[in-house]
Amino acid sequence: MDLQCPILELPNVGEHRAKKLNSMGIFTAEDLLTHFPREYDDRSHVRKIKELVLNEENTFLAFAKGQGESVRIRNMTLTRVKLYDETGSVYGVWYNQLYMKKAFLEKTQYLFTGKLQKKYGKLEIASPEYEKAEIAMGKIVPIYPSVQGLSQKILRKLIEEVLKQTKSQLKETMPFWIRKEYFLCERNFAIENIHFPQSQETFFQARRRLVFEEFFLLQLGLLLMKETLQEGKEGILLKKEEAVEEFLKKFPFAMTNAQKKVLLEMKEDMRQPKVMNRLVQGDVGSGKTAVAMAAAYWTIQNGYQAALMVPTEVLAEQHYTSFCQMFEPLGIKTVLLSGSLTAKQKRIVLEQIASGEAQMILGTHAVIQKDVIFSKLALVITDEQHRFGVRQRGALFEKGKNPHVLVMTATPIPRTLALILYGDLDISIIDELPPGRQKIDTIAVTPSYRQRIYHFIKKQADSGLQSYIICPMIEENEKLQLQAVLSYTEALQKNMAGYQVACVHGKMKAKQKQEIMEAFAKGQIQVLVSTTVIEVGINVPNAVVMLIENAERFGLAQLHQLRGRVGRGSEKSYCILISEAKSKVAQQRMKAMEKSSDGFVISEMDLKLRGPGEFFGTKQHGLPELKIGNLYKDIKILKEAQKAAETLIKKDRYLTLPIHQSLKEQVVALWHQQQLSI
Ligand code: ADP
Ligand code: MG
Repeated sequence: MDLQCPILELPNVGEHRAKKLNSMGIFTAEDLLTHFPREYDDRSHVRKIKELVLNEENTFLAFAKGQGESVRIRNMTLTRVKLYDETGSVYGVWYNQLYMKKAFLEKTQYLFTGKLQKKYGKLEIASPEYEKAEIAMGKIVPIYPSVQGLSQKILRKLIEEVLKQTKSQLKETMPFWIRKEYFLCERNFAIENIHFPQSQETFFQARRRLVFEEFFLLQLGLLLMKETLQEGKEGILLKKEEAVEEFLKKFPFAMTNAQKKVLLEMKEDMRQPKVMNRLVQGDVGSGKTAVAMAAAYWTIQNGYQAALMVPTEVLAEQHYTSFCQMFEPLGIKTVLLSGSLTAKQKRIVLEQIASGEAQMILGTHAVIQKDVIFSKLALVITDEQHRFGVRQRGALFEKGKNPHVLVMTATPIPRTLALILYGDLDISIIDELPPGRQKIDTIAVTPSYRQRIYHFIKKQADSGLQSYIICPMIEENEKLQLQAVLSYTEALQKNMAGYQVACVHGKMKAKQKQEIMEAFAKGQIQVLVSTTVIEVGINVPNAVVMLIENAERFGLAQLHQLRGRVGRGSEKSYCILISEAKSKVAQQRMKAMEKSSDGFVISEMDLKLRGPGEFFGTKQHGLPELKIGNLYKDIKILKEAQKAAETLIKKDRYLTLPIHQSLKEQVVALWHQQQLSI
């Protein structure tokens, strides 16, 4: 058997099983080998029946007492077999498996594993796994991410078989010097021991090697992408820069030192014959828009076009308004490409973009659609990057001839993670807020305070100030979510009769949403109920209260972003978190929000308390999904892998040396799955 053998040709795999495996992305023998266990059952730890723990997985040695008995209960047949050792007995129970009555040999010891439960006063274990004791003793048994319709036992047998038959066929991909320097075991050994560890020790060695390899490949891919993006191509030279200083003077405020520093870093990139690829990280309200405007202005002054892509229509509209305010008086043609344009309006805008008449182009995903053709695009900016993947960023890049790339995000990401998630970008940080910002008072309360808070919101409204309310979240179900927002709003309108209460949600037409947002911005609406559509970018300085229902359901980074919607004007602002959650972690998270207003501190805390989860997950960012590494727990290995990847690229920039060939193949294969070219 070779590694590329299609699974259909494996023993015991028919059409039916093959299909199930395919659905998990498993097509070849090798894919099975890299279907890593999710966790392990340590069957080297065997209990006596007397010591079994209720409601837990237990492993124990026992004999079966004679033949079992079967009874019919409604439409099911229940088979019970008494299992015993010298300390006691317990029933093994199987449903619709009559043959289990005769499954066990007499006087033969078996090793059982299963969850102990109490049913009708009797202790039983439903469908325990079992194996003859002499075979099974002392094993650490893998538990795989489940494949629907295939039992763990079958998966295990399949993988065991493939391992046996392909023994030592896996090519070692990691250069020897890296293995030596970072103490990494050999690949075949790692794969064998990740599935069936001989001991704890070999398991740790195996895992270390595979986690390292995963991070290493990811990082290597990103670095290669950066090299090819930057070095292979000539960037567009943007020399003329005198006018930028003048432009900055047109803002009603002076740039902060942090903004100036980032502008300088961008200038350095753009006036050299290299393509800029820069991520600007800055907390909410740190003034990223002004920085983007200056970069766009500079580009346009040099006779080129600049484009800005944002994740939502509402945000696109708002950016459009602020860009127009600055650009139109200077005679810069600014256009908005939004989903709510009529066909005719859209045609006109597209023509203006194609002819070069439009100099500043703003929009949502609409700007990366096929029908948008730029005349001379030299700068592409994406705002609120965490909403876009690498691929979409790439699509915008493809719209020009090696345009400069500026990516902005308000999600403070701890540096090590940023290196993985944005490893293909240089990073600038705006680490200072404009002067005079007020601290937003944050309090976490239980739902019993709700009426008092509504009262507080009314009082704010009486003095002409506005509030946001983020509606309770309902699991993943858009339809229910919609109902929840609507009924919450309705109830609130009754409660706050005489006040203007409205709601926006994801299911609304862009135009309708925009009307409501505008009314809110003008102060015609006093309380805005919303799902998280307002999360990104919205700027209404007169809003002073941010009330978040079910706050425990949000990530801290997200809460922090929501909080950033208030405190934008001169009035004292408040963020109120309503949460019922009593768990210690939930309370620590709410405390963290009350205590800190620094996005970096908060995101570190989030990582610590919850782990990387979805928000920092690679998938969210359009990167390959991690199969074994954990961005938080394995941060030490991550750092080592990053160092190794950097060293390697310094030695062999495009991986052309023969000893790096199999490594290169692996990187290309990994990224190819993401349809990205390196
Ligand atoms: P974000 O980084 O969250 O995108 P914005 O660019 O929307 O922040 O800026 C938030 C607010 O701060 C805006 O109203 C903007 O006009 C203002 N602002 C930006 N830079 C400065 C500055 N240097 N001094 C004072 N206010 C500023
Ligand atoms: Mg912004």
